[in-house]
Amino acid sequence: MRASTYPLVEVDEAAALVLEHTPVLGVERVALAHCIGRVLAEDLVSPTALPAFPSSAVDGYAVRSADAGKPLRIAGESAAGRPFDGTVQPGTAARILTGGVVPDGADCVVMVEEVQLAGDVVTTPKPLRPGTNFHAPGADLRAGELVMAAGAQLGAAELGLAAALGFPRLPVRRRPRVALLSTGDELVEVGQKPGKGQIVDSNRWALLAALREAGTEVHSLGIGPDEPQALRKLVVDALREVEVLVTSGGVSVGTHDHIKPLLESLGTVHIGRVKLKPGKPFTFATLPLDGGKKRYAFGLPGFPVSSLVTFEVFVRPALRKMQGFAAFQRPTLPVRLAYDARASADRTEYQRVTLHREGRELVASTTGSQSSSRLMSLAGAHALVRIPPGDQGISAGSIVDAVILSLP
Ligand code: AMP
Ligand code: MG
Repeated sequence: MRASTYPLVEVDEAAALVLEHTPVLGVERVALAHCIGRVLAEDLVSPTALPAFPSSAVDGYAVRSADAGKPLRIAGESAAGRPFDGTVQPGTAARILTGGVVPDGADCVVMVEEVQLAGDVVTTPKPLRPGTNFHAPGADLRAGELVMAAGAQLGAAELGLAAALGFPRLPVRRRPRVALLSTGDELVEVGQKPGKGQIVDSNRWALLAALREAGTEVHSLGIGPDEPQALRKLVVDALREVEVLVTSGGVSVGTHDHIKPLLESLGTVHIGRVKLKPGKPFTFATLPLDGGKKRYAFGLPGFPVSSLVTFEVFVRPALRKMQGFAAFQRPTLPVRLAYDARASADRTEYQRVTLHREGRELVASTTGSQSSSRLMSLAGAHALVRIPPGDQGISAGSIVDAVILSLP
């Protein structure tokens, strides 16, 4: 064992430092079908008005409001996609169907239920208000109006809007490609029966899910041994293909922990220890490449909860920043503690809680033992509550801020 020489950095300072080093990735133009969940890279301005023409909202008759109450001769029909070419002259009406163009001359539409029909003569009620029962051009969007700002995530409504405005492709931010490596001589693949002293590599599956949820493209490197040369080769080969490296295990100060020295030999380690529980040995490095480019390496601790909590606190915001998300942090909400939260003496603790509603409040219950090996403390958790270091703790009934993972 050797004592760590890395300074112990405050959580917020470490998170800010990671973000400072994280670039926003470039832009690619992507077909709408593949844009779901992606982040718009440029402000989208409407090239046209929506609707582009006065469009009937109902089935009925397009008339001049000045003709209210008079018998009107039906001069033609305007159906969706099949407009009436003529003009509605005084004393006439045009039959119109939902989505049909309101013809020239008409200034309102009367619903079919409100008229009296005799052969090809229609009589409307009195009075009629101009502008009723149709969508005026530009009522939904004016030409030149801002539709969505850069940084917006593209979901169903956003993609529908883009299509309505005539964009078959959109400029979106590239997604980070991430190489994911589990390290440890004790690890075996899931499905294999662990021998004496062996455990199943669960971190890779947990981190794969977390990385995908964060919007990245994951290249799995499998399990690496606690052997410097082999690790070096795995990492160096992978860095040609990706922007980001995420490893788990091997970041402590044991004689079999090789990730920190490896990252130091390849680049600059900016963070090697954080005042965070769980996750003290979290490591962050930038690795220069030929041509001035950089790669970003996150060495996560091996304990399963430590790896996922450090992912939440440091890695996920960075990956979302890279994708251009305007909102790259999880939301935080005030919650009422239903338990006495003991504090760690010297580290900020992210305790895992479930939430339930009591009236208008969210109430947080502990998920039980907060051991860094106990994934059961995170499975089903709705939030992480931040307990500052000290000998005080926070007593039940207090209001604290919680990082929301999901709402009950
Ligand atoms: P390390 O950070 O390498 O010292 O690992 C600390 C502990 O985390 C190990 O003793 C294992 O119990 C556990 N661990 C490390 N890597 C993994 C993994 N990939 N999956 C599950 N548990 C792991
Ligand atoms: Mg290890």
